Amino acid sequence: METISVIGAGTMGGGIAHAAALGGYRVMLYDVAPEFTQRGVERIHQNLAASVARQKLEADLADAARQRIRTTQALADVAQCDLILEAAPEQLELKRQLFAQLDALAPARCIFASNTSSLSVNVLASATKRADKFIGMHFFNPAHLMPLVEVIRGAATSVETTNAALAFVARLNKTAALCRDTPGFIVNRVARPFYGEALRLLGEGAAEVETIDALMETLGFKMGPFRLIDLVGCDINFAVTQSVYNAFFQDPKYRPHPLQQQMVESGKLGRKTGRGFYSYE
Ligand code: NAD
Repeated sequence: METISVIGAGTMGGGIAHAAALGGYRVMLYDVAPEFTQRGVERIHQNLAASVARQKLEADLADAARQRIRTTQALADVAQCDLILEAAPEQLELKRQLFAQLDALAPARCIFASNTSSLSVNVLASATKRADKFIGMHFFNPAHLMPLVEVIRGAATSVETTNAALAFVARLNKTAALCRDTPGFIVNRVARPFYGEALRLLGEGAAEVETIDALMETLGFKMGPFRLIDLVGCDINFAVTQSVYNAFFQDPKYRPHPLQQQMVESGKLGRKTGRGFYSYE
């Protein structure tokens, strides 16, 4: 594989495009409007510059990575590649429609991967006629830095597709964890109570956001639950909570909290909107 396309230039799509360009792939970055691709590319440039400034990356490698990224708003441009990595919003129907459209446009050799945090890879694959070439590749935030990628095999994913996905992850200098198609896969399943109990504590007035975060960070977590929700995006975090809750037929242990809904409905989505549980303005 030499050319890849990334769908969605937001928090995750930008980071994945960054990592892939550094891995030597030519990258086509797609979003629905030019201001979104532009914002995504600006963030990639800032992050590359920050790595150079911290002496984690040589300036000529950063330049080469910048030059490997192109942008588009046309799905037809996206389709001409070896691997399509989708990082669009966590909405089942939106993703299924995207994959169905891409299936009609992309050459038979093209592998489809979704960065979904919680939706079923089998259900997404069923929107296409290439379930054997369909796989989950769940990156972690920030995707250009975090080393782990969960690689999720669907029921029909071929061995060749799995091996190609593993080779792709290795070329990005990341570590793959193979998983099965189960709600939330591994990390997001285990992380649900981390967020859920913190939200309940806050809702009960037991402690403030800062206190809960500080205590968890004292214990060794890199980020407390609220700082992490703000990084993930309150909308994405809420969508994933609902998706895991519904996938387990409303098992109360995964029940979303009304505070999540309030944050989303008030537009406090976290870092990406400048306000969430903390202010970034
Ligand atoms: P985001 O909101 O930051 O970005 C989503 C992007 O998709 C936006 O730029 C938006 O303009 C674009 N978009 C909207 N409609 C679209 C369409 N119809 N077609 C293509 N693009 C469209 O979201 P994100 O945090 O990058 O999440 C993307 C995916 O990655 C989700 O499936 C999410 O569950 C998953 N994910 C998120 C995180 C995280 O920490 N945020 C971590 C791992 C996986």
